[in-house]
Amino acid sequence: MTLRTQQWLEADRNTVFHASTPLGQYARGELNGRIVTGAEGIRIKDSEGNELIDAFAGLYCVNIGYGRVEMAEALYQQARKLAYYHTYVGHSHEALIELSRRILAKAPAGMSKVYYGLSGSDANETQIKLVWYYNNVLGRPEKKKIIARERGYHGSSVAAGSLTGLPLFHAHFDLPMERIHHTVAPYYYRREDSTMSEQAFSRWCADQLEQKILAEGPDTVAAMIAEPVLGTGGIVPPPAGYWSEIRKVLDQYDILLIADEVVCGFGRLGAEFGSMYYDMRPDLMTIAKGLTSAYQPLSGAIVGEKVWKILEQGTDDWGAIGHGYTYSGHPMGAAAALCNLDIIEREGLVANAESTGAHLQQRMRDTFAGHPLVGECRGIGLLAALEFAADPASRTPLDPALKVGPRIAAACLQQGLIARAMPHGDILGFAPPLVVTPDDIDDIVARTAKAVNRVT
Ligand code: PLP
Repeated sequence: MTLRTQQWLEADRNTVFHASTPLGQYARGELNGRIVTGAEGIRIKDSEGNELIDAFAGLYCVNIGYGRVEMAEALYQQARKLAYYHTYVGHSHEALIELSRRILAKAPAGMSKVYYGLSGSDANETQIKLVWYYNNVLGRPEKKKIIARERGYHGSSVAAGSLTGLPLFHAHFDLPMERIHHTVAPYYYRREDSTMSEQAFSRWCADQLEQKILAEGPDTVAAMIAEPVLGTGGIVPPPAGYWSEIRKVLDQYDILLIADEVVCGFGRLGAEFGSMYYDMRPDLMTIAKGLTSAYQPLSGAIVGEKVWKILEQGTDDWGAIGHGYTYSGHPMGAAAALCNLDIIEREGLVANAESTGAHLQQRMRDTFAGHPLVGECRGIGLLAALEFAADPASRTPLDPALKVGPRIAAACLQQGLIARAMPHGDILGFAPPLVVTPDDIDDIVARTAKAVNRVT
């Protein structure tokens, strides 16, 4: 390691509190960080002169790829024109109005307004408050519980972290908070009864949801929140028929559906939104990441007409809605999102996610189906995962202590490739930028195969 890198890492250890990091190990130098110095297209560079293909688009967010000069120009122009003004009490600006029009034009029918935040977590917190407010206006103060799913990921703040269904985000923080419950994940690969069809498994999941609603009391359950495709919990597309079965149960008990589109939104599945791909018909939608391709922090809680009407009614009775962030609707975020949407549309990136995504799924299956360490290759569009197993035939999981997933991710790095060891289970995730080409995919799969074979 160069002296310069060592000095940076030491200064970093002394000053920066890192996310998702074993702090003691990092402080003692048992775990090395990486100083990222630049990025272009689908590659990042570090202070050691390494160039790595980023097959996870940062944290599945840099969808238009790195280093877009057009984006730098758009941000410069916006900063000169209007770097900031708040959006309280009806204040607005051109970029925000245009952005909202374009988001709603892309969103499923019936979506009405966008409330802007800065992260997926805060947008989901907003959704919880809106759902609670909605039921208070309707005179149903008991109808407040939110059902999320095991393995779901919705953020890491107090309420959003409670929605998240991964033990790592609850343990030692005394979460989840009250009124947040979890139902089963539609994790077909890990079904107990191996003879069950996908349709039957979907019905079983819907039945489990219904049992949970009945156990809690239907009059106390306000909403369900779910990602169209489980992301951080293992990149798990739903089994056939899942969303229509779930929707039936929610309709039956007058429960709202919040689609968390933070990962799936803006093209990753090869459709504008995951809710459209699966015909989820959500009442509310959360967006972030792909909204700006992470060139600026920006998120949105999109509110459907049914909820919107009630919110309006409430404020007529109770006065201004008591919710707002200093940076809501920030002009720099809006300018980044507009430029991002221009690039996505002009370069046909949603269609590219569909066609190049199909190539990714096929290449993964051709390369890894039948591999002695690979239990399942799964995914949709430019979202893919390899799940490793001790015995693929019987789906016997690996001993977590062997840390096979993290070891394969480390072996990928040796091959100049960033793929993500997902936080639960021996699962390697892929979510490359939407600008990826079929040749890039071949390269990514070839490097992954070398890494997997090295660990086998
Ligand atoms: N929702 C989903 C589906 C996510 O994947 C994430 C982050 O990965 C979030 C919400 C939280 O977003 P943020 O990290 O911007 O708070």
